[in-house]
Amino acid sequence: MSDIRITRIAIHTYGHEVRDLGVDYNGFNHVYEPGARRTLTGNIVTIETSAGIRGEYAGGDDAAMTQIAGFAHYLIGRDPHQRELIFNDVKRANRKNDRFGMGPIDCCLWDIAGKLYGASVWQLLGGWKTRLPAYASTYHGDEQSDGLGSPEAFAAFGVQCRDMGYPGMKIHPWGNPDIRREVANVLAARRAVDDSFDLMLDPACEYNTFTDTLKVGRACDEARFLWLEDPMKDGGISIQAYRKLRQSIRTPIMIGEHTRGLETHIDLMAEEATDLIHVDPNYDMGITGCLKIAHAAEGFGLDVQLHAPGPAQRALMASIRNTNYYEMGLVHPRIGSAVRAPIYACDYRDGLDAVDRNGCVPVPTGPGLGVTYDWDWIDKHRVGGKTFV
Ligand SMILES: [Mg+2]
Repeated sequence: MSDIRITRIAIHTYGHEVRDLGVDYNGFNHVYEPGARRTLTGNIVTIETSAGIRGEYAGGDDAAMTQIAGFAHYLIGRDPHQRELIFNDVKRANRKNDRFGMGPIDCCLWDIAGKLYGASVWQLLGGWKTRLPAYASTYHGDEQSDGLGSPEAFAAFGVQCRDMGYPGMKIHPWGNPDIRREVANVLAARRAVDDSFDLMLDPACEYNTFTDTLKVGRACDEARFLWLEDPMKDGGISIQAYRKLRQSIRTPIMIGEHTRGLETHIDLMAEEATDLIHVDPNYDMGITGCLKIAHAAEGFGLDVQLHAPGPAQRALMASIRNTNYYEMGLVHPRIGSAVRAPIYACDYRDGLDAVDRNGCVPVPTGPGLGVTYDWDWIDKHRVGGKTFV
């Protein structure tokens, strides 16, 4: 136990106007829409300590911030080194909700640890990878003639990504889908690129029926997709449904993005409901939570995939053996990098053109999570926040 204490926690909420981003049939999926404007918001959590070191982490939605407000009083005065104790106390206290609040807090605690020890988080985790191969993870299909409006458009975007150096692409197809177009999309994507380019499909739980899923899954078999992710409207949680699907198609299944925490991920693996397991530091109680799942999967002989891009994902991927790709998303041929809020003061970035010629991203080398934030920009675009002392 050290004599360092958590003295102050703050939530910083910013707003950022973006162009050419609309929504599809029922208002939930973001899609390309030329001329559309909307304001996106984001959150950054900071934790100050008596040592004068501040942990910083961008991530977590407004519901997560509400949860943090519910347990911030517990954190004030605690030793920030005691991540396992804090993890377990907050896990128990938040047993009635999804525990999303713990993700940004745990990432801040790791950032603090790195800064205290003068080491990167990935070094503290025993990491060794310095560059991470990334796959291009598309926006959902749209209905625009110059966007991702057809199987031909997705196929052309696959060729573009391959030519940029990406080793693979994951298609998020259309909302409220026409299953014949879904099947055609899978087959057209593979016709455009050879098998050295990995293809994945994430219908994001849009398929209404098991037979629709089977039709698309058989197309994935024919087109040799690397995985089929969260296809069905159960929300990617049904052990029964995915075990049955695994018995019916050859394409590996990936679920886990929508199940929360260690035990539910273990159940998916133990019951043979999935081939790959998805984890996310924002969704699964931080870097600590993701590590537990990754190491459990290692024991099952399975690979984890880290959901979404970010500095915490890079630190984790640098230090986990049983994982394959960094998810560079969401990307689109017409939606530029201005869609991402310019919150970083350092050269850290994500986006379609953020990979090198080999389709890789670097692992930040600075202390902690290795990124610095542009507080002038964040203060100028502040739309809310809260402080706990
Ligand atoms: Mg997904």
